[in-house]
Amino acid sequence: MVSMRLMLPSTSAPAYRGRFAPSPTGPLHFGSLVAALGSCLEARARGGEWLLRIEDVDEPRCPRATADDILRTLEACGFAWDGDVLWQSRRKERYRELLESLNGMGRVYPCACTRRELADSQLAPDGAHVYPGTCREGLPPGRPARAWRLRVDDISVGFDDFIQGRVEQRLARDVGDFVLLRADGYFAYQLAVVADDADQGITHVVRGADLLDSTARQIFLQHCLGVPTPAYAHLPVVVNAQGEKLSKQTLAPAIDAVSPAPTLCAALRFLGQSPPAELERAPVAELWTWARAHWDMARVPRRRTLLYLP
Ligand code: GLU
Repeated sequence: MVSMRLMLPSTSAPAYRGRFAPSPTGPLHFGSLVAALGSCLEARARGGEWLLRIEDVDEPRCPRATADDILRTLEACGFAWDGDVLWQSRRKERYRELLESLNGMGRVYPCACTRRELADSQLAPDGAHVYPGTCREGLPPGRPARAWRLRVDDISVGFDDFIQGRVEQRLARDVGDFVLLRADGYFAYQLAVVADDADQGITHVVRGADLLDSTARQIFLQHCLGVPTPAYAHLPVVVNAQGEKLSKQTLAPAIDAVSPAPTLCAALRFLGQSPPAELERAPVAELWTWARAHWDMARVPRRRTLLYLP
């Protein structure tokens, strides 16, 4: 077991510490605004802290200018986070340290498989391939290590999601041994997110349901590292008329940072709240006062996806 350094001493840790953790692969859009709003309002309603983390671990896909644009847009929308922003791109040493600890426990192994070699293996719920275990007992002779994988146990990992209910996953069957250090040398999201949630002392994760299928992996990794498991609440993912998740790839428009009130109201309605129409024309500060006073997580639709037509 590894003991993790917390950034604050546990005696001062609040009962609720949430976070918003955007990947700056594109500007803030309606889908990410929904996750920001839901995580922030729940934290504030519970008297908790709300932290901001820029998940730029996949550096080639995360230009600094895009991250800066997200921060400016969040500010323009009236978000106020606690403490400094945490940048994953500055935490590589920490991720390496954790990977080395896992190696010391015999929990990780090098893998030589290429994407093409895995193309025939079964598909996991998130569209990735279930790893068939080719390199589990050692690299094939003469093949160089490309990635590092976590050795998962053949157990069912379950959790009670505050919005989505009970979720169970058989890791070995549904996912297989998963990548922690990628073939291109960058650490994988699963390792970075577990390290950061633990080091930042996050107690409650509120995020989009597109990550529901990643949560069992993260819980398993938390157990391997001996760090606490936060409580999880997965908000419905915003989909367009084609049923696609809003993203840069599906050309989701950027949030209007000049007059964001109508979009903030739309995000509140998407989350099952009922802001009065006049807030769309009111200053953003007024909208926040209303939202903080009336936020009710129990009204968030218990759906994995939900259509939004602007
Ligand atoms: N960075 C992820 C995203 O933007 C979110 C990760 C998380 O909230 O755990 O989709």
